[in-house]
Amino acid sequence: MRKIVSEKIIKPEKEWKKELTPEQYRVARLKGTEKAFTGEYWDNHEKGIYRCACCGSELFSSDSKYDSGTGWPSFFVSLSERNIRKETDTSESRERVEILCDRCDAHLGHLFNDGPEPTGLRYCVNSASLKFTKSD
Ligand code: FE
Repeated sequence: MRKIVSEKIIKPEKEWKKELTPEQYRVARLKGTEKAFTGEYWDNHEKGIYRCACCGSELFSSDSKYDSGTGWPSFFVSLSERNIRKETDTSESRERVEILCDRCDAHLGHLFNDGPEPTGLRYCVNSASLKFTKSD
């Protein structure tokens, strides 16, 4: 079996700071959270692909986006599990699963088990960590 390894992107913090908006930098590089119902994509219903705002890696399709009512873009499956890394996050005195872009380590959001069928998963993602490309 052929193993596909995506190349890691490692940049100094000051470079990310230059390339990203202050909100993108705060959320994606410093593990921040955008305020619910304020991001660019929570209510986006257009067809297309959501990429990592930092490195462009393809993360989610609009086909798996659903209205979770949380105010953050929510997906029940990712485009490729290879592109997303999961880590245990024990901040805020509870245990959650953090999701990150595997290629550039951008903080995306968290993964929960209260999503819809068929996966039962909810990828709760900050708009600030995403860049949407509309499909024709
Ligand atoms: Fe990335």
